[in-house]
Parts: sequence; C-alpha cells; structure tokens
Amino acid sequence: MIKPVLFSPEEQSIINDKRESEGFCKESWSDKDLAGIKKKIKQHYLVEQNNCCYFCRREHTGKHGNEWTTEHLLSRSDYPEFMFEPFNLCVICWKCNQSKQDKKIIKGDFGKYPDSSELFQIVHPHFDIYERYFPYYEPEVLYFPWGDKGAFTYLLYNLGRFSRDNKFEEFSKYDGRIGIKANQYAATLNTPGVSEEDICAELKEIKEDLLGVLLKNHICESINSTG
Ligand SMILES: [Zn+2]
Repeated sequence: MIKPVLFSPEEQSIINDKRESEGFCKESWSDKDLAGIKKKIKQHYLVEQNNCCYFCRREHTGKHGNEWTTEHLLSRSDYPEFMFEPFNLCVICWKCNQSKQDKKIIKGDFGKYPDSSELFQIVHPHFDIYERYFPYYEPEVLYFPWGDKGAFTYLLYNLGRFSRDNKFEEFSKYDGRIGIKANQYAATLNTPGVSEEDICAELKEIKEDLLGVLLKNHICESINSTG
C-alpha cells in the first residue's frame, strides 16, 4: 500500500481557500496557483510507487513526463470535494488514465471519503495490496486478476491492451475470457467446502497452461520465474 501525501499548513490553507472559492469545480485543478501543490503530489506518488504506474506497473523512464498523470480515483467530475484528498490520489500512465476516464468505482454516495477496501470495486492503492488481486503479473505483458476486484480493475484500466498491442492472438483470446474466469474464482471463494488451497491449486494449473502458451510462442520467458 502507498502512503498518502502530507500537505504543509501553508499548502492546506491554499487548498482550503480554493475549495471555498466561488466557482470551484473540476476545472479548478488547472488553476495556475495550484501548480506547486500539483507538482508536490505527483513527485510524492512517483516516489511511493517506485516510478511505476500503479495499475499497469509500467516504469516511468523519465523521458516522457507528460505521459504521467495524477489520478483522481473518484473522479474530479463527480467528486470535486475529493480533489485534494490524499487517499484519492496516485500516479498512473496516460494509457491507463485514458481507459478509465471518469468511470465509477464505488456504489452509493458518501459524505466523507470512503475509507476501506470493501467500499471500492477496484484495487485501491491506499487500502489494498496489489499482489493480492494480481498474484501473477509481468508489466506490459501479462496480468492475471484474482476475484471481483482484480477482474474489475483489469477491465477498467484495460490491462489486456498489451497483449492486443503485441497482436498475439492466443493471448487476446485469454484476455477476452479473463473477466469471467476471475469472477468464477471470486464465487468459488464463497462456496462452502471449497478451501483456498483447492482454489490456489486450480489457479496454478491455469497459470501453467498459460505459461505453456507463452513459452511456446517465445513471448515471455521471464514470467516462468515469477510466482
Ligand atoms: Zn498504466
């Protein structure tokens, strides 16, 4: 889990003034007087995330600064009140950002920022452990989601795009089925009499099958050493 950004009293005062100002809305994020605070936010989360996009885990090479964006998990359009909420922020790449846009990730309305994992449909950078929902992944190649949250995150941030970009047909078929599979696993988790060990064994089997396909096609040999 990543740590939230901490604002100084001066920064907090600028933020409070901004939120109380007339005409405060989602576009206020682009106001020039917030440039320093926005820079601090981005830098904080880049360090916390080891220079990687939180969702696809692509590394920020430093060459394309504009490709990285501060993500408002609850969107600025629907929740301008959470624009500066540290738990609502992380850094993602522009492709993940483009896939998600303003899509909803919670059910219901909340007066204050929802503060626990189960209230969110996505893997939440501040409340969840990424590896719990993506037990196997290889950045820019393969993501194996686990459970509802894993599947929802996979689809929302379009993590199947790498296999499609590689024009690897067999892998794309896998991508098409993956949301359904992950949901089946989530359902199995709640089935009496089925132990987590059984599920893990089955998951391992699927991983082996997938590895066979990957290795056969020389797509990714390194994944064999993970998980
Ligand atoms: Zn990304």
